[in-house]
Amino acid sequence: MQSYFLGGKYPDVDEAVKVALVLETYPLLERVELDTLAERSGVARRKVRIVLVLLKRHGLVREHRGGGWERLQTGLLSVDLSADLTDYEERRVQDRAKLRTMVSYCQSARCRTRFILEYFGEPVEESWVCGNCDACDAQERFSERTRRVVAG
Ligand SMILES: [Zn+2]
Repeated sequence: MQSYFLGGKYPDVDEAVKVALVLETYPLLERVELDTLAERSGVARRKVRIVLVLLKRHGLVREHRGGGWERLQTGLLSVDLSADLTDYEERRVQDRAKLRTMVSYCQSARCRTRFILEYFGEPVEESWVCGNCDACDAQERFSERTRRVVAG
């Protein structure tokens, strides 16, 4: 589920090639809509946009003010976008790690403050909790209930 969402964020090399191939079928300086490119390449719109931004960075395409893109040069496929796409892959891995950390934070019954301190590498004493966050409150309620059960 999580990787389903994150996996769809950035284009891979295959998708970049698909977009470039579609774009190559249009004459130079002919305006093409983003939606058209997405539809014809079968690549998600937001990924097509990223590919176009990368091609733009290499001076191969130009964006119109009113939307749409045009090809400035031939040989879109001769440009090596793999370095750019590797950046995205790295970002994707980082996003996934960040999400995992967030999920474990939310699932953790441990003190939130302690979790954050440990996350940033701060030394924390073995039994230390802040006593002020929702996890500490929940823990406190739980111990009270347990004490009552044991006492009663
Ligand atoms: Zn706490």
